[in-house]
Parts: sequence; structure tokens; C-alpha cells
Amino acid sequence: MPRSRPAGRRPASRASGHGLLLRRTPFGETSLVVHVLTPDHGRVELMAKGAHRPRSRFFGVLDWFDTLDLSWVQRSDSDLGTLREGELLTRRRQLTRSLRSYRAAQTVIELTDLVTRAGFSDRGQFVLAEEALDALDQAQGPPSALLAGFELKLLEQLGLAPALVTCATCGATAAAVDATSREPRAPFSTAVGGRLCPIHANETHASGLRVGTLPVAILESAQLALSAPLGDLDRANWPAEHSIRVLDFAGRFLDHHLEARPKSHARFLAAPDRNRRTAPSPDTP
Ligand SMILES: [Zn+2]
Repeated sequence: MPRSRPAGRRPASRASGHGLLLRRTPFGETSLVVHVLTPDHGRVELMAKGAHRPRSRFFGVLDWFDTLDLSWVQRSDSDLGTLREGELLTRRRQLTRSLRSYRAAQTVIELTDLVTRAGFSDRGQFVLAEEALDALDQAQGPPSALLAGFELKLLEQLGLAPALVTCATCGATAAAVDATSREPRAPFSTAVGGRLCPIHANETHASGLRVGTLPVAILESAQLALSAPLGDLDRANWPAEHSIRVLDFAGRFLDHHLEARPKSHARFLAAPDRNRRTAPSPDTP
């Protein structure tokens, strides 16, 4: 730092980029502090002075689910930047047309907030969140399959994707245990990371970890949700109950591995596990 700089003033740099709002807190009478996820600067915290004044250039700009075009000043001695310009780049109006799409979009933001707060912040999270909001905004049907796809892809980005087809431990074929029943099921351990072959199901069980079973059809759909573009999941044409069970599976797996449950999902996941065997059984995951 040059010695000629007046005491108390630190160098400031200007930055700009696209952003998605993760948090918004009122500050004083008219200002807002916002947490924004950007593709190139990660997560940034910005003061939007006077944002609540009707004549403010930020008035009505800093809204949920929109992609914003922002420029801000960041001082080297502070985590809190100052927002200088803010414009709306993409407004996703359809997300407020029904409570269920609004809640799904809220879950996308809450989960993105959670993982980026934990320090996992990179361009991938911004791209995935934007893709999910776009797909939800354009969706014609219920959002369950799409949201399940988002949650599984988020897990994959964090290196936590479940093994859905082969054994989580050895990668071998993991056959169904009751292939002839109406709903074949496969051994599964959330703690170990997914589906298990018979050998590793036994080994995991012997080591004291819980091994349950999950319907093969749900695991196969989860695999599809993980690999298909999010926009395609709206056209997956799964029966509503099937989509909800895939989302139930993805939500519980994510819950376990992130040790956190988004508020917007709390009621959905407070219900009994929808992938349990119909008859009460102690072996569900
Ligand atoms: Zn195995």
C-alpha cells in the first residue's frame, strides 16, 4: 500500500458481474444488505444504500429468483461491499404463479445459500441454480421431478452423489433382493453412499451401519434425474406420486449428507418416508 495514502482509507476495487440473490436483510430505515452469488466472484455481501426509497435506482431490482447485473465497490479491509449499479437481467415471473413453483424456487435458493455459506462456492453452483430457476420458470407441470434433479446434481457437484445403479463400495452390479415382487427393491445405505451389492450389504450391516432397501424404480428415476438436463425433467411424464417419491429420496439423502434441511422443505420431509415398504418393516433406510 502506498505510504502517501491518508490514514484510515484502504484501497477499493470495482467489480461487476451477474448475481442471484441468496439473502436480503433490511438495514436501517431504507437500506438493504444482500448476499449474492456470482459466477466469477463467488458469494459476495453488499450494502444497497437507500434500496427501499421509491426513487432509488435499486428500488424493485433486488428481488428473489431474478438474474441481476451488478457492479460494486469492495474495500480490501471489509467483507461488505457497496452496491453501485444494479439492473434486472432476467425476471422469472412464472415462479410466483403457484405456491408449489414458488416453494421449489425457494428450495433452490435456500440450498444454494447453504452450500455456498459452507464455503463450497464456485461457478458451477451459480450455473446450476440459474438453470434450475429457468427450468422451474418454464415448467408446465408440477416441480417435483425437476427439484429432485436439482438436488441430485447439487450433491454431485459436492462430490456426494448417491450410487444409484451399481454398488457404492465396489462398483459391481447391485441386484434387487426381491426381483420377483411387485416392487423390486435393492439394498441401500445412505451413510455408505448408495446402493450396495449383496457382499457389501452384508459387510456394511456387519460393521454396525444401517442397511435398508429402496425401490429399484425410484433409484432408476433418480439416476435419470441426475443425468438429464433439468429442463427435460418437466417432460419426464412420471405419475405425480412417482415424482414425489423420487424427490423424497433425493431430499432425505441430501438432508443426511448436508446435515441441514431447507425451511421450504421442512413440511415435505416431516412426512413419513414415502419409499418405505408398504407393510411396516424395520429395514427401510
Ligand atoms: Zn459391492
